Amino acid sequence: MLTIEKLVKEENERQNNHIELIASENFTSKRIRNLCGSVLTNKYAEGYPGKRYYGGCNVIDRVETLAIENAKRLFECKFANVQPHSGSQANFSAYVALKNWIGIKDRKMKILSMSLSNGGHLTHGSPVSFSANDYEFSFFELNKDGRIDVKIVEKAIKAEKPDALLLGYSCYTYQIAFAPFAEICKKNKIKLIVDMAHFAGIVAAGLHDNPCKYADLVTSTTHKTLRGPRGAIILCNDEDLAKKVNSAVFPYAQGGPLEHIIAGKALGFEEAAQPKFKQYMEEVLKNTVACAEKLRSLGATVVLPENHLFMLNTKKSFGLTGLDAQHILEEYNITTNKNMLPDDDEKPNVTSGLRIGFPAMTTRGCNEQDAREIGQIIYDILKYRSNKGANEFEEGQKHLTARVQRLTRKMKRVEKL
Ligand SMILES: *Cc1c(COP(=O)(O)O)cnc(C)c1O
Repeated sequence: MLTIEKLVKEENERQNNHIELIASENFTSKRIRNLCGSVLTNKYAEGYPGKRYYGGCNVIDRVETLAIENAKRLFECKFANVQPHSGSQANFSAYVALKNWIGIKDRKMKILSMSLSNGGHLTHGSPVSFSANDYEFSFFELNKDGRIDVKIVEKAIKAEKPDALLLGYSCYTYQIAFAPFAEICKKNKIKLIVDMAHFAGIVAAGLHDNPCKYADLVTSTTHKTLRGPRGAIILCNDEDLAKKVNSAVFPYAQGGPLEHIIAGKALGFEEAAQPKFKQYMEEVLKNTVACAEKLRSLGATVVLPENHLFMLNTKKSFGLTGLDAQHILEEYNITTNKNMLPDDDEKPNVTSGLRIGFPAMTTRGCNEQDAREIGQIIYDILKYRSNKGANEFEEGQKHLTARVQRLTRKMKRVEKL
């Protein structure tokens, strides 16, 4: 009989047998997973610690307070809301809070951001998200090196006159230094929001500039590089804005908080504060470069990254679209995702490249040598499949599959982490 438990087992095996290179994924510790499956899921706790709409919340209050205190300590900020169910909902609430804080009533708030096609996120003004409907978004371009450039951004601020600048990305391979952007925001009297969903773990490890020192409002997921449970947070340093954030999360956007997940977040923040986590993040950065360098040395078109992800131009390197390359690699148990390159001439559901990241595999113990081997395997598979002769297909297929297996068997098992 098909039971849901059997499916979980199957997914467990899939995670163990695949080389997981999706840049937004990671593997949580067993302790975090146990908290997320704990009896805390049974409790209704609408409201905030000390101000709940239900009785019986004294333990829950201590759980959520611990999560808040851990988040504040980790990111060195004064206020934290740990209730958003996802990064998208955190952004939904953050924009509402900012609009109310500025006091905009009779018009849409205007936000300047990086477009989805340049590496932004759906909630940064894509027409298929609430964001483009509820707010007036405009977009800044990248410079010729593909970087966010303070001069270009300031020009766009002067032209578009937004209420806020939004920095953050889902697909961008450089680090961002926030001070110059905070400066132009101040000079032009606009607010600064940073969505650090992707790089929060690098910030937590002290290996990336901390946006909480500069931005009015910082949002983040907790499940990407940060390696906590699936969910999100909103951080700030202004008491009045923090109150607006709280009411924009509950009751405006959400009902009862997921206290079992909040318990997982509390531990995730604690884990991310350990020296071991800094070592882990240093490894992530090294592995990402090692794989990118390997691919480049073999002749593939790759730009060397400063963070946990890079883009492989599959069109230029192998004559394959991102979609085809993703499907081909999946046949060999290598999980990646297609992504638009800057100035991509393919549609978003086809693309000319792949996004490749190392947060997940590094958690399973992948080192630089393994990362180089992964680069070599990716190259061999895509090269082979882009100009395979039909009769040599089977032999090569077996060989490539064996190399993936050898690698995944060497890694730590995900249920034991
Ligand atoms: C992943 C991501 C989000 C959204 O997170 P979800 O939990 O999937 O809703 C928001 N912003 C950025 C920049 C992201 O990368």
